Amino acid sequence: MIIGVPKESYPGERRVALVPIVIPILTKAGFEVVVEASAGAGAGYPDALYTDKGAKILPGRADVFAQADIVVQVLCYGSNDVTGEADVPLMRRGQTLIGFLRPLGSIEVIQQIAQTGVTSFAVEFMPRTTRAQSMDALSSMGTICGYKAVLLAGVTLPKIFPMLTTAAGTITPARVFVIGAGVAGLQAIATARRLGAVVSAYDMRPAAKEQVQSLGGRFVELPIEAKDAQDARGYGTAQDESFYAKQRELLSRAVADSDVVITTAVVPGKKAPVLITADMVKQMAPGSVIVDLAAERGGNCELTQAGKIVVEHDVRIIGEINLASKVPYHASQMYARNLAAFLTYLVKDGKLRANSDDEIIHETLLTRDGEIVNARVRQFFSLPELVAQGAK
Ligand code: NAD
Repeated sequence: MIIGVPKESYPGERRVALVPIVIPILTKAGFEVVVEASAGAGAGYPDALYTDKGAKILPGRADVFAQADIVVQVLCYGSNDVTGEADVPLMRRGQTLIGFLRPLGSIEVIQQIAQTGVTSFAVEFMPRTTRAQSMDALSSMGTICGYKAVLLAGVTLPKIFPMLTTAAGTITPARVFVIGAGVAGLQAIATARRLGAVVSAYDMRPAAKEQVQSLGGRFVELPIEAKDAQDARGYGTAQDESFYAKQRELLSRAVADSDVVITTAVVPGKKAPVLITADMVKQMAPGSVIVDLAAERGGNCELTQAGKIVVEHDVRIIGEINLASKVPYHASQMYARNLAAFLTYLVKDGKLRANSDDEIIHETLLTRDGEIVNARVRQFFSLPELVAQGAK
């Protein structure tokens, strides 16, 4: 079976789906790997490193799609809503596509992908189980984003993070407040702590408290309880507007007292809740920084603009999107490891196990034989339930 790696085409995207170190793992498992010329260059992996490890470089994108049985991408059409559509005519029945597909994004786009006949797997839907941990690309990218968010805040804040006692006096440590203590939030807490900041964090899932504390953060408890805060998959759930209004009111003080606020609160398939209002921003000290990791999903701060830095009341609100792409070397390395684990799990004895009842496979399987076969997606978009085999 041939795995193909096209160059990422989303504007500014520097990651690549496979890096040279995973090629031997794949060839040992019986795969051949073809890579579009300069696909890894933006992430620090020149073509020669791929050929050294046994991959073949092909000159063009269409060549990669034409030769590959399995195409792996970081941002497939779906999550690449700018240039991704150009790949549609290159996809074909019998071919497999794996990557970020934004399965709860646009039904029209998913339908368009389905109609090509391609068998697609959305890595966003990897179950949160111990067995699937090595394949969990969302967690990998969350880790990278949480780390980078702190660095962005650090270079923007007109203060340093650590406490210093010097001959020129004592400098008090920066106060960093993290809202949403999932994978990205926890990494942000750990990174900000390493830089010497005093860190506090809040999440509506009570289970997050212990994790925050184990990283040396102070957990901010609010006298408000979310209804079924966590779903069966471990994700935070959507709450009603009165809950969010109460949250905003209770968070005001903690936000105003912080030099840096990093927000990561998202709910799968939903617009991110607004937890910081313009008025709350006004209460922050001049020079403060908000890094809104939910920017792409509408933002946790009312003033956030996706892809921009907004300055209001001398507070900088960073709405950077696709942040993982700003750490392309390690983001690609982690993603490639996730994909290699998934590929060797998915293909056994040279055959794709797309019909499998296995949880990892049927949860991630999005389209097959011209149809959207994923039960979660069908339910989300109110499509009738599929009765055919594999419609789990
Ligand atoms: P996420 O990216 O979906 O959301 C980020 C955080 O925002 C979550 O912790 C969520 O609870 C929080 N949030 C949502 N709405 C909020 C609100 N209104 N107020 C405050 N917080 C809000 O989350 P994630 O990073 O995917 O992690 C979710 C959980 O899954 C975490 O507990 C994580 O440790 C766990 N997880 C487990 C595994 C595994 O077991 N293999 C893998 C990855 C993540």
